[in-house]
This record gives sequence, structure tokens and C-alpha cells, in this order.
Amino acid sequence: MYFSLFLLFFSITSLNALPFNIIKKETDILNTPTLLVIGGIHGNEPGSYFAAALLSRYYHIKQGNLWIVPDLNRPSIQQDNRGINGDMNRKFSDIDPQDADVETVQEIQKIITEKQVALILNLHDGHGFYRKKHLNTIFNPNAWGQTCVIDQGTLDTEHPYGNLNEIASKVSGELNNDLIEGHHFFDVRNTNTRFDDEAMKHSLTYFAVTHNKPAFAIETSKNLPSLHHKVFYHLHAIECYMKLMGIKYERTFDLNMDAIEQLLKNHDYLTINNNIYFDLQNLKNSLSFIPLQSERNEFKFAHPLGSVQKNKTQYDLFIGNQKISTLIPSYHPKELCSIPITILADGKTQKLSFATDFFVTADFKIINNDLNTRVNVIGFTKKGVKDEANILVGLSDLDSKYSIDTAHKSYRVEFYQKNRFCGMVLVHFK
Ligand SMILES: [Zn+2]
Repeated sequence: MYFSLFLLFFSITSLNALPFNIIKKETDILNTPTLLVIGGIHGNEPGSYFAAALLSRYYHIKQGNLWIVPDLNRPSIQQDNRGINGDMNRKFSDIDPQDADVETVQEIQKIITEKQVALILNLHDGHGFYRKKHLNTIFNPNAWGQTCVIDQGTLDTEHPYGNLNEIASKVSGELNNDLIEGHHFFDVRNTNTRFDDEAMKHSLTYFAVTHNKPAFAIETSKNLPSLHHKVFYHLHAIECYMKLMGIKYERTFDLNMDAIEQLLKNHDYLTINNNIYFDLQNLKNSLSFIPLQSERNEFKFAHPLGSVQKNKTQYDLFIGNQKISTLIPSYHPKELCSIPITILADGKTQKLSFATDFFVTADFKIINNDLNTRVNVIGFTKKGVKDEANILVGLSDLDSKYSIDTAHKSYRVEFYQKNRFCGMVLVHFK
């Protein structure tokens, strides 16, 4: 599929990992500017982090450089909470070393102040629709929705993108040429942070501005009718900034509601310990007897907002703020076994490795003559048969209770040696 060209892996347990993902798309770091886009500082603003996720998955940079942090406040995103440890966007002027967010804040501060970063966008979904005059509780001067937010008109010292007001005005003007509905129009909101806004002095953008980095918040409205509306405006705004900076890109879709809605449904896949594979589309709410290790499981999501949270003895899987399933493990020690996997899918021979999948229309058979290896097709039972290799299996032979998906089309095929789990592949019936 075309999308796989830009596929990246997002590993949760790598050593010395940052508490968030960073995706770098670079062409020439010496001669072209780098835009840093940050999503998810507030965990209950999904437009912000899903926009950053689509940016990292479906945009290809042809000139200039783009860095994306899609999930700055990952633990709060999982819980769809503004900030489980308080408002992270109020911790940038000083932070208590005991604060649970200290590592995240310090790491993103290092990234913001890196020399090559020329402009920073912090993405939010804000309340209501900003209007200079008070109309009602949704449309008023205190609303944040549909604004390009700046802390001051210009940076204190010379910078190619130092005219914040001019840039924000240009971007909001361009956004207003392409609105889904007229009342979604954008405006510049200058918080005059230094003089007028005590709270904003602790924000990420003001930290950047005081380090002579041009920074803007993009606020779509929480009151827009759907997630894809919010993502549409975020992506459109980001594209305006890229254009302004001379960053050239290609995206693999048309920027419209339908296309975005479809892309948001694509949760892609997950591998665990390089021997387990799950397609994450239409996954059942809970999956049992998943052969995990008792510790140090390595979860790799294809989706940048994929994450896992251990909840007592279970593992909750998330894409952004959406809990997509819970894995109930059966623990197995880490095994290093290499078993050549040969299958007959609709009569055709295929070779596979662990943590992959294959498709069949009618039936499949796992070919295996190694007496030390036992094959277990989860959901298949035949009296007196322990090793399910060399048996033809069709969809009607499988108990739908054991499918991993709600459509009852995908099943696990597991390989064991001396009753120890080696790995699995996934079979999909078309
Ligand atoms: Zn926010």
C-alpha cells in the first residue's frame, strides 16, 4: 500500500527513550529551516494530537525539515484528561524537580532551543469561537477556538520569522479562504503575555519566545462538530506555516473531510516482542491468553499515537485517547527459537516469519514436520489432535469466540517448542 512508504515504528520500551515520540523528516538541515510541531500538550484535545499523527504518517518532506512531537503529554492523552499532573502548559518558566512532568518539560525545552529549530507550533483544541465582541458563552473574547495565538507582536531580537503578528495574520487570512462553515473563521489572538497575562508566562510558546524562537499556538475549536473538522483546520494551518517557511511537502491524500475521516480510522498494527502481531482494525474489546513475557515486553505500534498501559495484570492498548483493546496475558519466558514457517494458503505455498500475517479465501494449512514443534491454531479443535500442523483449516472450522476481531475473520496461529511459546502469525479470511 502507498501509505507504507512513510511508515515508521513507535516503540514504547526502548532504552533511554524520551517520554514522547519525535519524528524527524529532514532534507537539508544546514541550509533550510526546521519547523517543530507539537501535539498533545493537553490530553483532552484530540484534534491536536491526531493532526500531528497524520502529519507524521502521510506527509513527505521534499524541501526543508519537519520535526513532529505528536504526543507530548502521553499519560494524559491515554486518559483523555487535560493534565493528569496539572496543566503542563503552565510549567515552562519553572518546574518543581519533583513534578511528574519534569522530564517531559525539560526534554521538550531542549528540543525547542536546538539551533536548527526555526519556528514552533503548539497545537490545541480550545473552547468556543474567539470573537472580539461578546455574543454568548460560545462566541466571545475569552474563547480560544479558531485562533492563531501569539505572545507578542514581534520577537525581541532580529529573526527571519520574528514578525509574529504579521505571520499569524497571514495564516489566519489564508485559513479563512477555505472554511467548512463561515462561522469557523480564524483570528489572531495576541495575549500580550509579558504585560497582560501572568498565566501565559509559564506556557510553552512564551518559553520559546523568550529564547528568541518564533512560536505560535494553533487553536481549533472544541465546539467543532467532529474530530476530522479539528484535524482539517490544524493540518491546513500547519501547511500555511510550511509554505511560509519554504518547506515543500507531498501528502498521500486530499485535504478534505472524507479523506481525513477515513485516515483517522486506520489504527494500523502492533507487534510485541518481535513475535506477536495484531492488526488493530476492529479489534475485540478484550483478548485472552496472549503469550507475553512477565516483564520487558516490547510493544511496537505502526501508529505514532499507539501506546500501552499496564493495568494490574492486564495491558490496555490505546490509539491516542481511544482505548482499543485489553490484552489478558498468559506468561511465557523469553524464548529464542527460529522455526521456518511454511503455509499453504488457498493451495499456494508461502514462507513467513513470526509477527506477520497472511490472507486466505478458502483455507490454509501450516506445514510442519518437526516433532519438537507444536502448532496451535487458536479457535480450532479436533478430538485427539494436539499438534494442528498439516491440517486443512477453513473459516467454518474456527470458533468465532477466539477471533481477534469483531468481524470474526482474523485468528492467531501460534508455535510452541516443548510447550514454550515461540511466536505467532495472524491469518485473515477475506
Ligand atoms: Zn490546550
